Amino acid sequence: MTSVVIHAHCYQPPREDPFTGLVPVERTAAPFHDWNARITDESYLPLATARDLSARARVNLFEWISFNVGPTLAIWLEREAPAVLDAMRAGDAKSVERLGEGNAIASAFNHVILPLASPHERQREIFWGLHDFRARFGRESRGFWCPETAIDDNTAQSLAEAGVQFAIVAPYQIRDGGHDGQPRRWKGAKGHSLWLAPYHGELSGSIGFGDLAQQGERLAHALASISADRGIASIATDGETFGHHKRHGEMALAAAIGILRRTQQATVTNFAAIINSRSDWADCQLVSPSSWSCAHGIERWRSNCGCGATHDTGRAQEWRGPLRDALRWLGDSLDGADGDDPELTPQRKARYGMFTSCGWFFDRFEGHETRLLLRMAAFALSGRKDADELEAGFVKRLIHANCNDRALGNGADLWYRDFHALIKPHT
Ligand SMILES: [Zn+2]
Repeated sequence: MTSVVIHAHCYQPPREDPFTGLVPVERTAAPFHDWNARITDESYLPLATARDLSARARVNLFEWISFNVGPTLAIWLEREAPAVLDAMRAGDAKSVERLGEGNAIASAFNHVILPLASPHERQREIFWGLHDFRARFGRESRGFWCPETAIDDNTAQSLAEAGVQFAIVAPYQIRDGGHDGQPRRWKGAKGHSLWLAPYHGELSGSIGFGDLAQQGERLAHALASISADRGIASIATDGETFGHHKRHGEMALAAAIGILRRTQQATVTNFAAIINSRSDWADCQLVSPSSWSCAHGIERWRSNCGCGATHDTGRAQEWRGPLRDALRWLGDSLDGADGDDPELTPQRKARYGMFTSCGWFFDRFEGHETRLLLRMAAFALSGRKDADELEAGFVKRLIHANCNDRALGNGADLWYRDFHALIKPHT
């Protein structure tokens, strides 16, 4: 029997203002209050209650698709849309019954580029991600979603040491392989191992960037023919593809899954169940470091590599390096007095959250996502005796990050205009 896996990465950045715990109004998300609310309405809720027109029924797609829900989104869902989180849990439980393996997998607590994290940041992000998963789904996670599928040998080693058994990767992240869709075993220098499950690049591209997510029959046909050919057809894409980016995408997905089930052309399953199905998968090496959204490895989150949201080369991304350096310096300096206590306090949430990858993903330094990082930096500095000294060191480095709108000056100008006054003094 051939296999089909569809993975949805469900994630939103931590939009809460750390000072109030509330998500401020985001005008671009109108008529919704903010983007979390809008994407939940357009994608996550529809995925949980999708109409399958071919069967005239509603289906909870979380029962049928592999998925991860980023802890920063899960925290928001718990508060604002608990029924969606309940549907994810129910879908996961049903998949355990059906396949012996759950559809849900864990991810890093914050959406950080794990290969760019310091060793202790990486360990904590993995530890907190697994801890959050256990609390929400009541079981251990076998798999892990690395933000932006960014991975290197150190990250694979940290995952394996934490007990993770597999990670999802793009086909080109596996050296000399991956394009046949078959899982491979990575082996670390210390004897640990990690399964790497590659998705189908072209098929995932047609879902995310073409119109395949809007045509159920065509999608079913594409999945069936690839799995007939190679044994496995798998897709990885953002959860918001279905509904938000591709209108009615959840209906097409429900129709495709319904067709595959009724015609028995392929088993709709998950990566853990596929890995279990054989014991002789081949070994491999990683392309280290690499990711699914930067052709240059992981440069998108630290240099002017040209990867961005627009393809307007006039918008230089030279600020990416200085921003990374400034936050690296601040994070390391904050850790000096932090000790080894792994408790996730609000202060620490901000300190680790200021490396959220979205801050580098887009083109403009003064953009919304980068400003979220600066707001978290202000919160992490608040209430500290050494805040003035740390702020001075941080700002000295931000000077080298220029706003894309030259009228706004550099990072230090932006900081003093919008963030400096947020810092609460030590009492
Ligand atoms: Zn790039």
